[in-house]
Amino acid sequence: MTAILGGGIGGLSAAYYALENPKLGPLIIYEASDRIGGWIKSNRSQKGILFEKGPRTVRTHGPPGANTLRMIDDIGLTDKILPISSKHPIAKNRLIYVDNKLHILPNSVGSFFKVKSPFKRPLITMLWNDFKAPKVIKNDESIYSFVERRFGKDAADYLISPMLCGICAGDAKKISVNFLMEALFEAEQEHGSIMKGLLKTTFNNKKNNDNVFKKNNKPINFNVNSVARSGKERWVAWGLQGGLEQLPRALAENLLEKNVDISLLSKCENITFKSDHVELNTNGDTKKFKHIISSLPSSGLSKLIEHQHPELAKELNDIPTVNVTVVNLQFPKNNILPINGFGVLVPPSEKIPILGIIFDSCIYPQKTSTVLTVMMGGAWFDEYFGKNSSDEFFLNTAVEHVKKMLNIKIDPTDFHVGILNNCIPQYVVGHKDRIKRIHNYINQHGLPLSLCGSAYQGVGLNDVILSAKNAVQNIC
Ligand SMILES: Cc1cc2nc3c(=O)[nH]c(=O)nc-3n(C[C@H](O)[C@H](O)[C@H](O)COP(=O)(O)OP(=O)(O)OC[C@H]3O[C@@H](n4cnc5c(N)ncnc54)[C@H](O)[C@@H]3O)c2cc1C
Repeated sequence: MTAILGGGIGGLSAAYYALENPKLGPLIIYEASDRIGGWIKSNRSQKGILFEKGPRTVRTHGPPGANTLRMIDDIGLTDKILPISSKHPIAKNRLIYVDNKLHILPNSVGSFFKVKSPFKRPLITMLWNDFKAPKVIKNDESIYSFVERRFGKDAADYLISPMLCGICAGDAKKISVNFLMEALFEAEQEHGSIMKGLLKTTFNNKKNNDNVFKKNNKPINFNVNSVARSGKERWVAWGLQGGLEQLPRALAENLLEKNVDISLLSKCENITFKSDHVELNTNGDTKKFKHIISSLPSSGLSKLIEHQHPELAKELNDIPTVNVTVVNLQFPKNNILPINGFGVLVPPSEKIPILGIIFDSCIYPQKTSTVLTVMMGGAWFDEYFGKNSSDEFFLNTAVEHVKKMLNIKIDPTDFHVGILNNCIPQYVVGHKDRIKRIHNYINQHGLPLSLCGSAYQGVGLNDVILSAKNAVQNIC
């Protein structure tokens, strides 16, 4: 029998893939709260407006993107997909807020050759900089210092720093380039320049991908295969009708039909490894298992194993996390935004207590209202908000900045404030080595323990789902 700890998308996905391996025996998922889905939460407001409290879109890029779409088809959600193609304004218009003004990031070949504020020179000169900059051999460094070295300070301040706020609410000066932008890092290490490395990889990938839309030389049925459809229609991302929470719900239904036991309100409190089994204590009750797959936040797992494996517990506990406050706002009018786009990100150098604003109603248009989500805190949570900020303070701060930044003259008529503690792991410099040490420890001690979830392999839903697949496949 195998126990899966945590009923977020990581744990549910682990059960989904574990069903393919009969050796793992009956499966039971233990979830501490009264619902499945973890950070994926789609709520209707009192006025019936869909407020996403966590993720809202999923990228289609690469094998991890394709893997998730295959799962979506398999669990019967194909008809609910809301695709976002590369032609959609939200794929093109990405804004940053600098010097009290909105700026559209360069989004066409032409714009690479012009000086576009807030940049002091055309982007093409930054690429040229990369061709010329000397290669520096390193094991890892912060994304900020890497980008500043290769492309210049403007790129580090106005491209990469706000992007990191959007991806992981993190500080580019602390996040590991060798982990989060491994391909770019390796391009420099192997080819001496990012651009040279990327051009080479793109050329090789093109050769390998030529047959991607054909199977046995027959055209694929685009109505049933979302991976093929996403390629043909050039999706960059997708959402789900009714919100992304449809994904964990459908996955849980699929698992229940296949006799996976999902035990809610079951908090895992202790794990004890014995010579031929593992004892898991939940809500004071101890059960024996052959194997454990944990999708818990790494600090949570750390506490469960600390008494037997303090060294491993320390490594797990040393993966930092940040708090994020999510403020959903509904304004009683549409067409009040200065431009259609994905949203606006704020570079940390602007010293504004906002990470970014997502234009939800541009992604999924509303007939008579504008819906926005304001993200706040992250790596700067304590600096701006301390330990005791109230919902009211977050709401007022969000509304004040939204009105000023987007020049909105009316007040929101509906809102929700969510303070999400320790919701996003931070892959700080050295993360890759730490993950290696964690896996080496588990292997060397022969622990029947597998790890998945956002703490290890990436924060996006695709990464978490793939981490679950990898964890299951690596169980001998
Ligand atoms: C605000 C926000 C916006 C995001 N936006 C996007 C986006 O647009 N696109 C995207 O791809 N990704 C996005 N992400 C990232 C993505 O949502 C997360 O990385 C992912 O949901 C994490 O899933 P998980 O299963 O690893 O962890 P979790 O969702 O944290 O699940 C872990 C589960 O374990 C349970 N648990 C904890 N301790 C115990 C215990 N002791 N015993 C039993 N159960 C326990 C918890 O209750 C929880 O349900 C966003 C994340 C946040 C926070």
